[in-house]
Amino acid sequence: MRKTPAWNRFAPALLAAALAVPSLAMNPASPILPAPGQPMTPVIIDPGHGGDDEGAIVRGLREKDIALVFAKKLKARLARNADLPVVLTRDTDRYVTLDGRLVESVDMRGSIFVSLHLNQVRGRKSAGAVVYSYGPQKASKARRRRHPSVPPMPAAPRGQASDSERLARTFSRTLRGDGFRAESSKSDYYVLKNPAEPSVLIELGYLNNPDEAAKLNDPAYQDRMVDSLAKAIEEYATARTLRVDMPVATKVVSKR
Ligand SMILES: [Zn+2]
Repeated sequence: MRKTPAWNRFAPALLAAALAVPSLAMNPASPILPAPGQPMTPVIIDPGHGGDDEGAIVRGLREKDIALVFAKKLKARLARNADLPVVLTRDTDRYVTLDGRLVESVDMRGSIFVSLHLNQVRGRKSAGAVVYSYGPQKASKARRRRHPSVPPMPAAPRGQASDSERLARTFSRTLRGDGFRAESSKSDYYVLKNPAEPSVLIELGYLNNPDEAAKLNDPAYQDRMVDSLAKAIEEYATARTLRVDMPVATKVVSKR
């Protein structure tokens, strides 16, 4: 993370925006699918980094580029399900501040927020995806450098944190079921404090692992992983709808 976003300038605006939509800030269990006749809320996909903020770079592979490829593919894959509109926080190689990503998500009144990243650690043996939801656990120094957290941002409401954890587990369980290595974990990354909707940050894999980096850059592997991510979102959408006792959302089931 090369740029230092202007936290103090945006954080109050973000909180004000959250408070201005109390139904979102106070009632995080609002369904991912709307009641009949209500407008649909989008799934917000957030490709990490962008522009001057390149994220991790290993042997010429840039985190910002691969994250954007995955995000665009995920949007296209979810578009097959007309009940799940999708918005990207960026669809080009441009920098969006962390605050900008959250302000946008508050404005959008999204249903869920999914930030996509690639991992980089020392040691070549690390492999697999890690799906983070908000928790007090501190990120490692290396991860914190790339994804800084900021004191002025309060934690997300407790009920929403558990929804975020449920979303993270849905992702990791679905990925494992489709043959990918994946675990869910907790961190206090800034975007996970999103006051507007359940939020996760997915490290899709390790760029420092040569085998995994090659897979992450392979279009066929990307398609398989994107399909699994989309299935997780669809499953979560269905569960959320059922949980609030709305009509069974048969239309949410994948149309493959
Ligand atoms: Zn990142």
